[in-house]
Amino acid sequence: MPDVTAVPSAVPGAVPTAVPSGLLADVVRFSWVDGPGNRYVVFLQGCNLDCLACHNPHTIPRATPRARAVTVEETVADIRTYAPFLSGITVSGGEATLQAPFVAALFEALRDDAATSSLTRLVDSNGCASDEVWDLLLPLSDGVMLDLKALDVDVHRELTGSDNTPVLRSMDRLAHEDKLTEVRLLVVPGHNDGEDRLRRTGDYLATHAPGVPVKVIGFRPHGVRAAARRVPAPTDDRRAEYGRRIAARVGAELVTVV
Ligand code: SF4
Repeated sequence: MPDVTAVPSAVPGAVPTAVPSGLLADVVRFSWVDGPGNRYVVFLQGCNLDCLACHNPHTIPRATPRARAVTVEETVADIRTYAPFLSGITVSGGEATLQAPFVAALFEALRDDAATSSLTRLVDSNGCASDEVWDLLLPLSDGVMLDLKALDVDVHRELTGSDNTPVLRSMDRLAHEDKLTEVRLLVVPGHNDGEDRLRRTGDYLATHAPGVPVKVIGFRPHGVRAAARRVPAPTDDRRAEYGRRIAARVGAELVTVV
């Protein structure tokens, strides 16, 4: 049996004590929405945020009978099977960085395997990770797709239950090291969709993540918990408006709206 005691530290953002085994929520072998090209996506169990608008709330608990312990070896073996049809690997969650030793060991093994070495290796993160975690992951990663749930700390708390200081610090470091592949903004009506908030968020990104693509995601209620189903989904016109407000600050060529 793999060592499930390796899974995440109880301290948000800390480096987990670890051996390279992981706790898996799910795997998607072909995805076009988790980074560029056709990607194999590893969804790890456990998150250090508790987002109102989470579309996969079953991945938040760190321990659940639904999750499965996996080794690096068996994960690489499965990826090897599909490698000829893939552009890359994305490790997501939950929060991928909570299992940083597993992710690092997986990325190292993929890099060193002739069948998988050409695949790009991306992390999909909420940004609540310490410098020690990034020290471990960045040398082995091609980039990070980072969620910014809200620029204002009070709104971030309202949407996630936590402060956004580590997220903003992660963004600065990733941008500085040219590892910030994409910033994702989930716009939730009534929470972070105000004109002034979007303008300030765009200005912040233009300054702190210049030239980085931004995906503006209009809230959709499918899969969310009951409390979030009361939030109305924005219309297509409203989604487009969110995108225009961000594009006005960072440049239209960098913005996609979904
Ligand atoms: S960071 Fe992602 S996985 Fe974690 S609670 Fe928020 S939306 Fe869900």
